[in-house]
Amino acid sequence: MRLHRLRFAVLLVLLWFGIALGLARPQKPPILITADLSDTPRKLYHAEVDLPVAPGPLTLITPQWIPGHHMPTGPVSAITGVVFTANGQTLTWRRDDVDLYEFHLTIPQGVTTLHAHIDSIVTTRVSQKLAAFEWEALLLYPARTPVRDIPIQPSLKVPAGWGVGTALTPVNSGSWPVPAAGATTQFAVTNVEQLEDSPVLTGQYFHEFPLAPSITPQHFIDVASDYPEDSNLRPAVLAATANLVREANALYASHHYHVYHFLLTLSDVAGSEGLEHGQSSDNGVGEKGYADEPHTLANADLLPHEFTHSWNGKYRRPDGLYQPDFSTPQQGALLWVYEGMTQYLGNVLAARSGFETQAQYRDKLALSAARLDNTPGREWRSTEDTAIAASVLRGGMMAWSNWRRSQDYYQEGELLWLDADTLIRKLTRNRKSLDDFEKTFLAKGGDTGPTVVPYKFDELVEDLNAVAPYDWTSFLHDRIDNINPRADLAGIEQGGYKLVFRDEPSATQRMTAESRGLRSGGADFWFSIGLRAGADGSINDVRWGGPADKAQLAPGEKIIALDGQIYSADTLRSAIRAAKGTTEPIHLIVQADSFVSLVNIDYHDGERFPVLQRVDGPPAYLDDITNPLTTPEKAPQPKTEDDH
Ligand SMILES: [Zn+2]
Repeated sequence: MRLHRLRFAVLLVLLWFGIALGLARPQKPPILITADLSDTPRKLYHAEVDLPVAPGPLTLITPQWIPGHHMPTGPVSAITGVVFTANGQTLTWRRDDVDLYEFHLTIPQGVTTLHAHIDSIVTTRVSQKLAAFEWEALLLYPARTPVRDIPIQPSLKVPAGWGVGTALTPVNSGSWPVPAAGATTQFAVTNVEQLEDSPVLTGQYFHEFPLAPSITPQHFIDVASDYPEDSNLRPAVLAATANLVREANALYASHHYHVYHFLLTLSDVAGSEGLEHGQSSDNGVGEKGYADEPHTLANADLLPHEFTHSWNGKYRRPDGLYQPDFSTPQQGALLWVYEGMTQYLGNVLAARSGFETQAQYRDKLALSAARLDNTPGREWRSTEDTAIAASVLRGGMMAWSNWRRSQDYYQEGELLWLDADTLIRKLTRNRKSLDDFEKTFLAKGGDTGPTVVPYKFDELVEDLNAVAPYDWTSFLHDRIDNINPRADLAGIEQGGYKLVFRDEPSATQRMTAESRGLRSGGADFWFSIGLRAGADGSINDVRWGGPADKAQLAPGEKIIALDGQIYSADTLRSAIRAAKGTTEPIHLIVQADSFVSLVNIDYHDGERFPVLQRVDGPPAYLDDITNPLTTPEKAPQPKTEDDH
């Protein structure tokens, strides 16, 4: 006993010395990086980087697996003009033969700081008037070191007069958020992991709006657009975004950020985007993406989805998707939680916040569920496999994608978590819901700064059981790992509705098609003859096993004419309606490569559009789910008619 105590005392003394030594050790000096975005209109970024080094061999690396991309998209091929200097001398470098993201150098004796100049050729998220800048475009740091352990201090230059939105903390803010012409803004020291997670929005037509000021920490939406009138968001959109902050505050019962910035570009040039970060999100829609109701409806879940990721995906992350650096491959097996549950919560929050009505939520859900239920690829491939294979499915080809399956873990996950939510409500007579699970699962540790708490499958089961005891292990495995030829429609049915088809599209489908159609002019005949066509009749995809497939049509072919007329979506629509209940096939003239042939589609059930129909009897949990938890903020009314 005594001996043990002695040993314990010795250990304590050693431990105390260790702590004291640790405290006395000087902090590692940070990498200093200045990102110069002044050349944004020419689609070039530049950086000057000073790295603390010691003499001897050194390997630097640029990011490969960008968090949230679910595939290795690191912009190494865009990095150019790399020149290393030390004490006024240029140093030679050699790329690694296997890992092409690595640069090998030898640091001469007496050198403690290595300077690197980098240029980056930018292809996305820029226009003449704005940039949504992600730091990985210019990052260079020591390889094989956990990125959270590498201190870095960022600085930023933007074109004169451009505003800046970011979650980074400026230390010489001056005229923030519009820095003085030519000024370099310095930010507080952070680490490489956090810097990669802290994008910058900058633009000439820039507005920063505070949101829901009664809620701590602070929230902002920063908007940049190509034309001055667009960045001044409509009062209804600002009100919905403020509601979103209140609704998320009520639902997630915690925050894992010091401040939150929604960064939003409105530009037809900079492209569409939705990329999650812990303390911000990088969102991109077209110029008129929130200018009217149809466009707002089409983009209703963008901000709720990316905001939700701050909790689900950033703070709580499947352990296979959280790696110590950006070169270790990420593993996507639990993406049906990371993305699938976010898909569910994002759409629920869109309705609760007023980006869309409860009826519009149901119409969109009907379309998503009907598409999944008409995806024949589910006959050979599990939903889990779409998650494991995310990095090869992402951005993949459209042809036969319904037979191949795409990143279905998003929408499949939405149906799965709706099923879980309505089941909990049923089991507890609506006293508990998935909201209670979120308050446990996403709020562990209470309020924190930006950090990652990884999880495994078993924790989901444990936390679901704490809300409502059930065989959640089988529930999840059955729906995710198994081959399921039909989509999981149980949540819709437990929610008091059923999926039916009508011969007219819902108002929501018409409105969202209208906002998309302004650009593409395409048409969707998926649930009738089983194809999607572009404005000129080009076939984008054919439903495997559907009438168009049986008629031997294929993606890439083009419908030139039908019924004696040149193709238009309206002509085909009329032909499908006219063939209803008859025995006469629909006659098409189709071009395949340089050949033309006659094709007959034997289809007689008319047009079919999915919608959810209320069922008598069970309670409408689906509508309880989309009811706001907080008092919604009404949009401020314009003062006069002229204000429109
Ligand atoms: Zn997402």
